[in-house]
Amino acid sequence: MNENVERILFTEEQLKARVREMAKEINKHFNGEPVVVVSVLKGSVVFAVDLIKQLDMPVSLDFICASSYGSGTISSGKLVIKKDVELEVEGQNILLLEDIIDTGETLHEIMKMLKGRGAKSIVTAMMFDKPARRKKAVQADFIGFHIPDEFVVGYGLDYDEQYRNLPYLGVLKRSVYEK
Ligand code: 5GP
Ligand code: MG
Repeated sequence: MNENVERILFTEEQLKARVREMAKEINKHFNGEPVVVVSVLKGSVVFAVDLIKQLDMPVSLDFICASSYGSGTISSGKLVIKKDVELEVEGQNILLLEDIIDTGETLHEIMKMLKGRGAKSIVTAMMFDKPARRKKAVQADFIGFHIPDEFVVGYGLDYDEQYRNLPYLGVLKRSVYEK
């Protein structure tokens, strides 16, 4: 285990197994209809890679980079689009992938934007849901795991761009960011 991780919440095996279940649910939902998968950079990339390999409908893949965090652990509530979706959204079924939903601000803003561009449908899948600090009600269609109100890293999630490569989800030691 990484020396800055206090404890592991989900092992690599648990995460893989849950993603397999989610893919089955998502396949059932779309029933062969084509989807544009939109992965929110950078956190959801690991989840996206694991998930799309198990989707059985025609899939195209795109990315959006919207950030509200910077290097801190508290959301400012302001969303900045750093990289936009390049594929056509209008008339498409969108499967929006997020690593974690905390306040809900990020997902809320991205949904609003994609709806405004005339998506046929938008379905959301998030690997982790941290409901304790929710400010905006969000549409959560597929959820991997609910987690407690702690700052987690690994499986794509970072602290100051580190730890995304950890194959498990762990709670970061407070001493790392409380100095
Ligand atoms: P929201 O807009 O829902 O408050 O925040 C969503 C974004 O905040 C996520 O995409 C993620 O980048 C970041 N975030 C929220 N909670 C955590 C956490 O516990 N760990 C990490 N690494 N990022 C988090
Ligand atoms: Mg993020």
